[in-house]
Amino acid sequence: MVLQFSSVKIPGDISKKDWFNWKWQLRSSLKTREDYEKYFSLSEDEKEGFISNDFAVQSTPYYAQLVKSSCSLRKVVIPNIQESKKGRQALKDPLGEEKHSPVKHLIHRYPDRVVFLVTDLCPIYCRYCTRKRFTATEKSIIQKKGYIEALEYIKKNPGIREVILSGGDPLTLTNLVLEKILKDLRTIEHIEIIRIGSRMPAVCPMRFSKSFTDMIKKYHPCFIMSHFNHPDEITLEAADALNLLADQGIPVYNQMVLINSVNNHPAIVQALSRRLLFLRARPYYMFQCDPSLGTDHLRTSIKNSQWIQKNLWGVLSGLAVPRLAVDLPGGGGKVELVPNGQIQTNNQSHTFKGWDGMVADYIDPDEKTIQLPSDTSSYLQEWQTLNQQSYGNNPNITRKSDLDFN
Ligand code: SF4
Repeated sequence: MVLQFSSVKIPGDISKKDWFNWKWQLRSSLKTREDYEKYFSLSEDEKEGFISNDFAVQSTPYYAQLVKSSCSLRKVVIPNIQESKKGRQALKDPLGEEKHSPVKHLIHRYPDRVVFLVTDLCPIYCRYCTRKRFTATEKSIIQKKGYIEALEYIKKNPGIREVILSGGDPLTLTNLVLEKILKDLRTIEHIEIIRIGSRMPAVCPMRFSKSFTDMIKKYHPCFIMSHFNHPDEITLEAADALNLLADQGIPVYNQMVLINSVNNHPAIVQALSRRLLFLRARPYYMFQCDPSLGTDHLRTSIKNSQWIQKNLWGVLSGLAVPRLAVDLPGGGGKVELVPNGQIQTNNQSHTFKGWDGMVADYIDPDEKTIQLPSDTSSYLQEWQTLNQQSYGNNPNITRKSDLDFN
């Protein structure tokens, strides 16, 4: 059966015109306990959550209405008293972004790319947010001075090939402001790729229109990095947004976070991944939830995540399987966890066990016959630029590329 998607029901007192206006959705966001009580019957722990935690609370009416009919997603957007518990590894800056921030608003953790925090505003405040130290703290877009400093840094570092617009959510900015940022980035010759990380496809899909895609297309190659966590988020409205992006030639890659008792089951992940792929959005990463302050009740274990991944392996089309990764606490970057099918190695013979249990050997050719390409000169300089030995404001982090195969 072809996958079907359902619309989110518009509450009776809201006009269709308002509902499908993304600016109205943001303007009419739920922010207080009283706002939430119009949509949800709150438990005592949830009511306490509005008082006991420091992280802002917010949902678009669209997402609140969606969550209302989903038994799984409440924990994503309704605060809970459990957020006030310190937790086992409660970190204010779980990914050590501050120490990789050469200028305010930029994170330079990997040699060839930077994250550019262009606003701290989001359409919803996800309770597991890794960037609680920054998100919703000033409730504004980047100020001119910080913006110019960030652009100057990017200009001065030709090793930077990719800029990831993030925040906050860059798509809370108007097309006009977003276009100014894209235009400025495109004046920098060495920038090849622009990514825009956004929760909007999942929580405010009415953000996407032909005028938006027409604007983005002028600054290609641009990628949208969406953040769907659960198949219930793939509504007809979200499907329309993803289809529009695909039809207009804007690639979408999805990054999900595994959340305890929300989506930490292979049946849920496969359902999300298949729907995304069907809508031409690539399931890209499945992240272990970062140990941000007050998130222990939302995190799952590595064992649980690997169990999910092992169950997806082979059963689901390779195109639909997201890569499981842990972003190392403290800022060590992403580490991918892959199912280990190699059970034995004996000189040049390697024994593997496949996804359904079949065991087979792979025998290498004679090592003496392995030759590297005779001419890499055209590309070696590019490669060496990517492997610059220090970056950001942390000269102690060095990585030596190993160009000597033998
Ligand atoms: S949309 Fe992203 S940055 Fe904003 S609260 Fe959610 S996870 Fe954090």
